[in-house]
Amino acid sequence: MTALDQKTTTTFDVAIVGGGPTGSALALLLARLAPDPARVALFQSEQRTRYDRTVANDTRVIAINEGSRVLLADLNAWPSEVASIHTIHVSQRGRLGRTLIRAEDFAVPSLGHVLRYSQLHETLLEAAGQAGITLFTGEPAQAQQNGDDVIVTTGDVQTTAKLVIRADGMNHQTQSEPARSQAKETHTQVALLGVARVSRPKVGWAFERFTREGPFAVLPHPDHHGSQSIVWCCTPDRAKALLGLKPDALARAIEQTFGDRLGQFEVLSDFKGYALYQSVDPAPIQGRIVNVGNAAQTLHPVAGQGLNLGLRDVATLAHCLRDWMAQSNRDPARSLAIYANLRQYDRCVTINLTRTMSSIFTTHLPVVEHGAGLALLALDTLPALRAPLARHLMQGLRQ
Ligand SMILES: Cc1cc2nc3c(=O)[nH]c(=O)nc-3n(C[C@H](O)[C@H](O)[C@H](O)COP(=O)(O)OP(=O)(O)OC[C@H]3O[C@@H](n4cnc5c(N)ncnc54)[C@H](O)[C@@H]3O)c2cc1C
Repeated sequence: MTALDQKTTTTFDVAIVGGGPTGSALALLLARLAPDPARVALFQSEQRTRYDRTVANDTRVIAINEGSRVLLADLNAWPSEVASIHTIHVSQRGRLGRTLIRAEDFAVPSLGHVLRYSQLHETLLEAAGQAGITLFTGEPAQAQQNGDDVIVTTGDVQTTAKLVIRADGMNHQTQSEPARSQAKETHTQVALLGVARVSRPKVGWAFERFTREGPFAVLPHPDHHGSQSIVWCCTPDRAKALLGLKPDALARAIEQTFGDRLGQFEVLSDFKGYALYQSVDPAPIQGRIVNVGNAAQTLHPVAGQGLNLGLRDVATLAHCLRDWMAQSNRDPARSLAIYANLRQYDRCVTINLTRTMSSIFTTHLPVVEHGAGLALLALDTLPALRAPLARHLMQGLRQ
């Protein structure tokens, strides 16, 4: 690990800004391709995060699909505490229509896995340190292209790199750049996250219930004590009111929204609010600076796709940079163009699917709500409709 107070003028092949799950995973993949893993630099700062939390007090749980599990296991970064999902129950509050997605229908051992964001973050960073990657921790790093190099500044230290990947989870679009005029940063929902116990648990089941204010999910918690993770997306006003409730009153509010499928709820932890931003960078490659993961697209958590999509970004990017990593004095433009082309379809499908799922049940238009309920019913009765959706959620599109 390199201390920040140490002035350095090293030139790296690649510098990755942001050592979250996508940045660390990419660093590990590129270190395998580099002539020397130390020529890959990873800058991780906890001083500036999207949700104003340090990793240690980030209580997020993340549903990871099978494709992501294979990648993380291959990187020796599969966390020790994980809960598996074999059945997903999807319903709409106040309307008919529900669908069940079962692992056995797709001949897979599980539909996904739930893990703690903080543990995944730590495990990946530790693996990056062990792989010989040059790790900078401390103040936030900034990247600026300068001719054929990119200057990376962190505190009073400056380094250069041939290519910089921004995996810092931030939205880098500015309204002043005309080419980026599609920039959008919305915050109309808050996700409340907490842990609860239920009186009639269903092991391995995940529930997604669509309400007029946003989706409500109950997932198996990775602590192995039969507890459940609650992810309750609602309006900022409602979130504020719910956060002011005593645990018993909060449990009754959960039951009212979720129904009695799992019996009575007992709240086991403080609930924390995450303002939900959604943004898509229409041009994630600018010269020798590439945005990946949440820096390229920040999605609503409704379909559990944000990190899964980010990991597909970095797996494809590493694949496209394979030859360039061996000769990094060449221009990476062609490799990056191939990467952009390969990622276009998966990004577009996943972003649109997530947008539709996060908004279709919140229109307050009876016809749309009814139609969405019928769609759930159709999904349940017609495997030919359900299979492609479930496959996309389980695997995404990989190249
Ligand atoms: C409530 C909630 C639930 C979610 N559930 C799911 C789910 O079930 N499934 C799923 O796939 N996704 C889910 N997501 C999305 C998922 O959390 C993100 O897609 C994922 O964390 C993105 O990873 P990342 O590495 O790109 O960015 P981040 O996780 O944001 O990591 C970025 C890292 O970079 C560091 N950093 C920031 N700026 C700098 C800088 N200037 N210099 C150096 N370091 C910097 C930050 O401290 C951070 O550690 C959920 C998100 C939320 C909010």
